[in-house]
Amino acid sequence: MGNIHVLEKSVYELIAAGEVIERPSSVVKEMIENSVDAGASSITVEIKNGGRTYIRITDNGCGMTAEDIPLAFVRHATSKILAKDDLVSISTLGFRGEALASVCAVSKVEVMTKRREDDLGSHYVIEGGEELELDSIGCPDGTTFIIRDLFFNVPARLKFLKKDVSEGNAIANVVQKLALSHPEVAFKFIRDNKTELITSGDNKLLSVIYSVFGREFHSSCIPVDYTYNGVSVSGYVTKPLMSKANRAFQNFFVNSRYVKSVTCMVALEEAYRNQIMTGKFPGCVLTVKINPSNIDVNVHPAKIEIRFSDEKSVYDAVYFAVKNALMNFDAPTEIVYEEKKPKTLTHQEIFSKPAEPDKSVQLMFSSTRKSIDFSDIPKQETVATQNRPAVREVVSFEEPEEKNEPIKPAPVVTPIVKEPTPEISDRFKYINQSSFAKVEKPAEPEIIPEVSQKPQVKVIGELFKTYIVCECGEDMYLIDKHAAHERHNFEKIKSGAESLDMQALIAPIDVLISYEGYDAIRDNPDICKRLGFGIELLDAPKISLYGVPVLIGDEDPADLLTRFSDSLSSGKIGSGSELFDDLFHSIACKASVKANSITDKIELEELTKLIFEEDIRYCPHGRPVLIRLSKYEIEKMFKRIV
Ligand code: ADP
Ligand code: MG
Repeated sequence: MGNIHVLEKSVYELIAAGEVIERPSSVVKEMIENSVDAGASSITVEIKNGGRTYIRITDNGCGMTAEDIPLAFVRHATSKILAKDDLVSISTLGFRGEALASVCAVSKVEVMTKRREDDLGSHYVIEGGEELELDSIGCPDGTTFIIRDLFFNVPARLKFLKKDVSEGNAIANVVQKLALSHPEVAFKFIRDNKTELITSGDNKLLSVIYSVFGREFHSSCIPVDYTYNGVSVSGYVTKPLMSKANRAFQNFFVNSRYVKSVTCMVALEEAYRNQIMTGKFPGCVLTVKINPSNIDVNVHPAKIEIRFSDEKSVYDAVYFAVKNALMNFDAPTEIVYEEKKPKTLTHQEIFSKPAEPDKSVQLMFSSTRKSIDFSDIPKQETVATQNRPAVREVVSFEEPEEKNEPIKPAPVVTPIVKEPTPEISDRFKYINQSSFAKVEKPAEPEIIPEVSQKPQVKVIGELFKTYIVCECGEDMYLIDKHAAHERHNFEKIKSGAESLDMQALIAPIDVLISYEGYDAIRDNPDICKRLGFGIELLDAPKISLYGVPVLIGDEDPADLLTRFSDSLSSGKIGSGSELFDDLFHSIACKASVKANSITDKIELEELTKLIFEEDIRYCPHGRPVLIRLSKYEIEKMFKRIV
């Protein structure tokens, strides 16, 4: 970092005005950001009494010279930007030159700082903006700030502070966010003499996630790594079944800065659509990397909100990144073949010659990737295969085909739609595995372990007239037949959303609807037609219904039309297919086998086949569709094995 200087008036007036220091956590945020900007690899934060009486931040960053220290506390003094143009390409967390000035105006500040190249460091004391001491001392490289008695001279502010516990929690939250956005920095947080958080600084996000959110969150993480339109998105999202009751676990970082971004939040949740229960929210730690000139961080005094110059690219990048990650990693019906003594075959060999079933092959359904045990492979082959992920197969009733290629650790995928269109929701009416074209496999024949025959799924029977019991390889499955069928129908309807087939009614029905509904139907003949409604307008508000969607099942046509017209008039149904979801849910539900009613074995088999083929995992409301119990677990329960 260069020398500190006071910004010219013409520059600082461009900086969003606002008070940066509202509470102890704001001090901690600004101080940690300064330490990160100073290149520190280790930062310790210590607080007492919720940060009200004592905050210490120690870093091993670049330090300051004795001449620079007093200047650092002058308003609009910074070493990070110089001229107006620098505001468009900010790469540091700070740039406003305000924090230290604001902090020292309302507290008692003591600084010890030393640059690596200097023999002696400096000690500086400033209270309520008044300089008290500046002398040389011996101290370690880096900087320590001690802030005592925050707001000692503004009692009105003190009154607004919450209980020490709450203020301390807000600080803990700030430390967590900064630790997550900087895995390369080792953080330590001490509250009232108790160490609460330690991160290793090993530059591994997953290890920070473990330290911050604990084992359960850590184990539910699915990696995300994706670049789209120059915006790269990486990090982790939680498995759909591990969703949370609120959005507290959603963390977005843009160019390593924690931000609150509605764009990112909506894109994330959209990617989980229909996989998560209503009222539940996914968690995430996602870093968006984008050219600094495409964002404006200068819209909020605490820089927590930012503006993207191209919101849509960011939305798309986050959406695809998450969708892709979910499809590739959260796949409970995918099998991992763990082979003890794999022979090495080329792609061609695998697909030309059906492999012999081999007793040494262990089949596993797994929601996480398991690696192949290569311990028995000769050294050279180990090198050739070591970095490969486990070979995974989608359970199928058919012969192996194209899709049986081993999946890359983070396959680069391209959305099927080539031309960007204005409405994102329009473009991805139905997203399943086939909606994403996988990158072509390399021309070179690859060496991968031999894959054995796929296990057959055998339907054992029906339990409580509601669940299908089936066996597949070394696993038993319980399938919620209604939920699964509903999902299948839902996707079927959704994928054909462009136009649902219409079935003509034997005799048209006159339906009386609301005036608003009548107007909405009159104004949207295309939508009505696309959804399979055959409608003739009579005198308002009467409508003659001569055709209904084929998939209507035993739903009352008049009732369906009434609900449809209500949704249409209230703006719930627009051009985006997701807006039809409510209607699709209800049609799908009606068209599905019912729980609590006996279903024919052949039907059960057909349904099971569909579920495994289509990799159905959640019902349209996000409830799980199937539960797996492995033979191993069952044998353990019966104490056949230990
Ligand atoms: P800003 O971060 O916006 O530049 P601040 O008021 O936070 O403004 O800090 C003013 C200046 O003080 C910084 O530009 C930097 O040069 C210096 N500074 C602050 N904290 C540290 C630190 N921990 N290590 C080294 N320099 C620091
Ligand atoms: Mg700063």
